[in-house]
Amino acid sequence: MSLTLHGIGIGGGIAIGHAHLMSHTDIEIAQYLLDDAQVPAELTRFDDAIRITRKELEMLWGSIPENAPTELGAFLSLHLMLLNDHTLSKEPRELIETQRCNAEWALKQQLDTLLAQFDEIEEEYLRERRTDVIQVAERIFKALAGHDPGAHLPASQARDSILVAHDLSPADMVLFKDTNYVAFVTDVGGPTSHTAILARSLDLPSVLALKHARGLIREGEMVIVDGVNGFVIVDPDELILAEYRTRQQEWLLKQSALQDIRASVPVTRDGVQVELFANIELPEDTTLALANGATGVGLFRSEFLFLKEESLPGEDEQFEAYKAVAQNMAGMPVIIRTVDLGKDKIATWQEDTDAPNPALGLTGIRLCMAEPSMFRTQLHALLRASAFGKIKLLIPMISTIAEVKQTRRHLEEVKAQLRSEGIAFDEDIELGGMIEVPAAALTVRGLLKHLDFISIGTNDLIQYSLAVDRNDDAVSHLYDPLHPAVVKLLSLIIDTANAVGKPVSMCGEMAGDPALTRMLLGLGLRRFSMLPAQLLKVKQQVLGTDVAALAPLIEAMCETSDSDELRAFAAQLDA
Ligand code: PEP
Ligand code: MG
Repeated sequence: MSLTLHGIGIGGGIAIGHAHLMSHTDIEIAQYLLDDAQVPAELTRFDDAIRITRKELEMLWGSIPENAPTELGAFLSLHLMLLNDHTLSKEPRELIETQRCNAEWALKQQLDTLLAQFDEIEEEYLRERRTDVIQVAERIFKALAGHDPGAHLPASQARDSILVAHDLSPADMVLFKDTNYVAFVTDVGGPTSHTAILARSLDLPSVLALKHARGLIREGEMVIVDGVNGFVIVDPDELILAEYRTRQQEWLLKQSALQDIRASVPVTRDGVQVELFANIELPEDTTLALANGATGVGLFRSEFLFLKEESLPGEDEQFEAYKAVAQNMAGMPVIIRTVDLGKDKIATWQEDTDAPNPALGLTGIRLCMAEPSMFRTQLHALLRASAFGKIKLLIPMISTIAEVKQTRRHLEEVKAQLRSEGIAFDEDIELGGMIEVPAAALTVRGLLKHLDFISIGTNDLIQYSLAVDRNDDAVSHLYDPLHPAVVKLLSLIIDTANAVGKPVSMCGEMAGDPALTRMLLGLGLRRFSMLPAQLLKVKQQVLGTDVAALAPLIEAMCETSDSDELRAFAAQLDA
């Protein structure tokens, strides 16, 4: 009898195939005390295991296929870094020496201590790195047990195998490229877990966080993976199978149609020109942005440079990153957002992370104002890089005009410093502001007098307007881009900017949702910035839209305060 399991859909379309179960990597750990005389041999056994594991990881790192996503290398170097860190490679040695426990036991004790520390971390991205620590430790356990730690991924025989795993490590992902697997599903994995990040870039149908998939799916069983809607159908009957074969074909057709429009200019059926930019987090993301036809970077989240280090990134390091983006984009606009830390993204060097409510605390531009030396270092690096391309500055989380004025003062002073240092920069560099707080939305006319452009951050604008924490699963059903309050605010922001003739763009997730493209075009938005993977889908919507024809429905959407009514109007936009 068929069974449907729900999880987090990572995309990649639909796959139909036979399940291949990956055994759980849990290893039985023997715990025993050693005689004094046995200690030196045990230390050698432990050191050997570390050496073998390192060799294995280095080998995998060296065998990353050229077309593999850049994240893969990053995760493998993270695993190597964890392995080389004294907490895993040295401290268990001390336990062997002082407590005379066997190597596995020593490593297990150390792992437990580390995991307890990870559980204390509030920042989701860092907390999820605990899985990486477990995966590295599992490799060492395997090496201690004399297993070949390299052979993780079971070989798939058939051409349509679907891997069913508890979790997949980055090393498994390297092997994935060379197998016959057409999709994978896992029991665990949050939306920002490494598995999710890699799955997205592999672009294979995948569903994570299914919880009990490995217990409920049998080896060889027929399964359908719907990575778009986030579910897995186990043992489907002929009727469901036929339905999904059709859906799969439709999806594939849509994908190849998308490639055809890569080079087309985004213009609506009634001749309205639109700009489609990319959101990036690291300089190398520009490759994907360009491959998907982006004609600019609408949001470079510079804080990712600040998150990966133990300490603040130096000015030169920042300069090189900004310059690389500017050069990669070869004269196209590159909007770099000044560091936006403090709420969901907290850097290790930030001391005060116990704010009672970080989302309403010292975040975005507020943190920059409180840390002028960090801010001015970044402005200095940004201005230097502005000599190498068309860089524009964007400040996050503004809620008052005073913040913009103060930013301008900092900017002018850093410019004066550069002039006195004889360093070239773009004298006319533009300064924009993110509109992501209701206070900024409601006073946007005033803000626009002091800004060259604005960019709407809907992720936060929705969170703050609806009082719904964007990271809290318990209220995610209330996080609604089509709430009448959100639509009214968007309409106000876009209308005001258009009326005063200043550019307005959108860089929140709404901009990359093809289901909302028509509404945003109807509201007057002409500049969209999104994850590179969304660009072609949104372009396709743009090409098929007649903006003028949407006007009556858009007007009705802006007037109603009833969510259901608004949703009904929105559905008609696609009719
Ligand atoms: C936003 O809030 O919409 C936005 C683009 O910024 P971030 O998601 O980085 O907070
Ligand atoms: Mg934001």
